[in-house]
Amino acid sequence: MRRSLCTATLAAALAACAVNPATGKRQLSLVSKDDEVAMGQEGAQQVAASMPVLQNQPVQDMVKRVGMEMAKSSERPELPWSFTVLDDPVVNAFALPGGPIFITRGIITNMNSEAELASVLGHEIGHVTARHSASQMSKQQLAQMGLGAASVVSATAAQYAGLAQQGLGLLMLKYGRDDETQADGLGYRYMTKASWDPREAVKMFQMLMKTSGGSEKEGQPPAWMSTHPDPGDRAQRAEARLKELNAKNVNLDTLRRNREQFLRAIDGLSYGENPRDGFFRGSTFYQPDLALQITFPDGWQTANQPQVVAAREPEGKALVQVQAAKGANPTEAARAFFSNQGFSNVTQIQVPTAGGPSVSASFAAQAQQGVVEGETTFLTVKGHMFQVLTVAGQGNLQAVDGIHRKVVASAKETTDPAILNIRAPQLKVVQLPKAMTVEQFYSQYPSVLPLDQVLIINGLEAGAQLKQGDLVKQVVAGTAR
Ligand SMILES: [Zn+2]
Repeated sequence: MRRSLCTATLAAALAACAVNPATGKRQLSLVSKDDEVAMGQEGAQQVAASMPVLQNQPVQDMVKRVGMEMAKSSERPELPWSFTVLDDPVVNAFALPGGPIFITRGIITNMNSEAELASVLGHEIGHVTARHSASQMSKQQLAQMGLGAASVVSATAAQYAGLAQQGLGLLMLKYGRDDETQADGLGYRYMTKASWDPREAVKMFQMLMKTSGGSEKEGQPPAWMSTHPDPGDRAQRAEARLKELNAKNVNLDTLRRNREQFLRAIDGLSYGENPRDGFFRGSTFYQPDLALQITFPDGWQTANQPQVVAAREPEGKALVQVQAAKGANPTEAARAFFSNQGFSNVTQIQVPTAGGPSVSASFAAQAQQGVVEGETTFLTVKGHMFQVLTVAGQGNLQAVDGIHRKVVASAKETTDPAILNIRAPQLKVVQLPKAMTVEQFYSQYPSVLPLDQVLIINGLEAGAQLKQGDLVKQVVAGTAR
């Protein structure tokens, strides 16, 4: 008889070891169920603070309905499950310990049925029920996740040191191949139990393989393939499960796909990056809703996050960030900023702006990684107040002194109508008036995407024959509201 690992290490690790209800296996866990839930809830708050939620109730409701049905019939129905669509163009989905599950607009616009959605949500539910992240996470990691909650300075300093990214990365743990295979198996169990057609899961795997080459931006959540390493033969394994169903004489055609319902729900969603959230052209950042433009140093790494837009010196010597400021005027906003703890040597300085009231100061601050020096300017552009904050390690500020002035001087109102009226491309679902090939569809209903992308988002191969009445996705230029 084999002695289990759990028995051998139990005493030493003082860890709980119990049979996992989903996997039926004994599992060593350093984390209690209460801690697991608390960890996930804290992580979910961080996700909500750093990434926007999709403002589309019908799509949120659909994802919640499909997810909840499977979660409630899983082995852990009592967990505080939640399903949230993030307004993010990256193709991804991830689960936090104890129930919070997030899925992106980017992956949804690549899906074609509720059954495909169920296959992804079922897989993520599997990561939760099998406690994959809870069994990996230590309390030390949990403590590090709290970084963002600290004071303004340490949050800035953390970003400066690249720690903010690390914090976010922790939320999206990489799973091992065994965990992925197990989550696939559990996802399959949940989706078939809910009568979803498991053939749709195979389509999902194929789509994920094809979209895995997408580039990732700094400060953005990683894409599916980096959080879910490909277990290689997952499509084959999915096919093998289908054969088992065939052997059991299950008529797959009686199972649910809800293709039309799904496509009607996502008709009109934005596709790809939403330029209304601000965008870069070269090193200049534009925020059309605020009519703001501001130019960062050439060659610096830039990141556009919901609360802040930042640029980092290539070697990490300094960071410049711009964010909205609160207060009646720049002087009050500066006073509020410096009332945070940890500042020293605060000295008012003169930094020229393109116009409007402003106030500037230099300072030193104690951060986790030591003393940082900085300069900040509160300024007004077209009635909106902003803070430009430049920080550098001690002794490096000299090198970036000119940088702060340059960035501040570049902040001005943008008047270009092409920028002010820019819209994200949109999904448009077309019902075909007659039969045609996908290539004919592409020429009659042009998209702002190349043909191979249109094939991927529709789950079609080149040369595919489309029938009269079929629903097919087109991606059109966004129109003004
Ligand atoms: Zn996974």
